[in-house]
Amino acid sequence: MSSEPLVLGVDVGGTKIAVGAVTGARARDMVERPTDVSSTESLLDGIEAAVNDVIARVGRPQGVGVGVPSQIEYATGTVETSVNIPLAGVPLRAELGRRFGVPVFVDNDANCAALAEAQLVSAEGAEGHPAAPPCSELVMLTLGTGVGGGVVIGGKTYRGAHGLGAELGHVSINGDGPPCPGNCPNYGCLEAYCSGQALERDATELARGRPDSPLHAALGDDGRVAGREVVAAAEEGDPDALRIFARFARMLGVGIATFVNVFEPQLLVVGGGLSRASHLFLEQAKQEAGARALPALWLRVTIGLARGGADAGLIGAGVLAAQELAMASRDTERQAEFTEGAR
Ligand SMILES: [Zn+2]
Repeated sequence: MSSEPLVLGVDVGGTKIAVGAVTGARARDMVERPTDVSSTESLLDGIEAAVNDVIARVGRPQGVGVGVPSQIEYATGTVETSVNIPLAGVPLRAELGRRFGVPVFVDNDANCAALAEAQLVSAEGAEGHPAAPPCSELVMLTLGTGVGGGVVIGGKTYRGAHGLGAELGHVSINGDGPPCPGNCPNYGCLEAYCSGQALERDATELARGRPDSPLHAALGDDGRVAGREVVAAAEEGDPDALRIFARFARMLGVGIATFVNVFEPQLLVVGGGLSRASHLFLEQAKQEAGARALPALWLRVTIGLARGGADAGLIGAGVLAAQELAMASRDTERQAEFTEGAR
């Protein structure tokens, strides 16, 4: 096998676009630009400019992987729906492929992050042991404004028939629960309990009913308690905020037990912006999950925090491009053998 191809990973976020060259689970020569969301054209121009900045440093890549906060029809790389950035309906894979002149692969950012986590295990070694193989069975939950997720099966991203699957945040854990805050008609989804939006909803409700409480004092000009205020109140020991996190943790545990039972991952990791407050919920969530998951599966799984941090999306996008290029070259070799054999 020849040396690894040069691939770039692109992470398109609501506020910034990050691009870097990716080798294994490492990114280098990274650049960042603010995301221009004023129009589709200016957003695409911004992605192109950031990629060209990296190309100027590292040379022309053989492929580019792109992660976006959107639902993607994977085969065509067309954006189905997109929150916060103007990409809905855009054939992103074809559009960027035309601009870069190399193969482009587009996936949901949570899928990219999960793929990065599976590689990071190999780079760092599980439990401090070096040179562990990549984790082939992994589930990642991304807790942020909403709840995203990614599933790696056999080392590859699981996407369903069209690339729209693995929406782990929209698994309902209570059919009569609160309406899902996402673009989703269901009730009691994990996102309705374990997201920044759910924290805000619960804290705001509580604050309005208790004028003397610290949460009431944290009500903003918009009449709502921001997620970071709930975190701050819980860290200071406010019983209301702690109660909110106790339910958050319990429901997260219910969700984790469900995913362990369905996928039997080696590793289930929790990432996203809210994972920075994991000291307020992760241990309790683990206990809840351990009391609910099927014992034979629970014995064999490790639950932990995501390691990729802010670069996980970028790294995963690069890993995706490298995997797709490797598969394409194997297909070409097989085709050549077949042609050879037919002579
Ligand atoms: Zn939902």
